[in-house]
Amino acid sequence: MKTFECGSLVPGCDWHTRADDSAEVVRRAVEHLRHTHGETYIRENMVEEIKARIRDTSKAA
Ligand SMILES: [Zn+2]
Repeated sequence: MKTFECGSLVPGCDWHTRADDSAEVVRRAVEHLRHTHGETYIRENMVEEIKARIRDTSKAA
């Protein structure tokens, strides 16, 4: 299970998501960033920024 917490990227935001694979987490995170924080947040390196902050929680679960 992969987890992404938006607050690690956008300070103050407590939104988070979990999915079985990181690609799905990235997809949801981009969607959230677009809807909640505006498209200006979606930059070329945003996917990389998201990926760098995804935590693998499968061992904890
Ligand atoms: Zn957010």
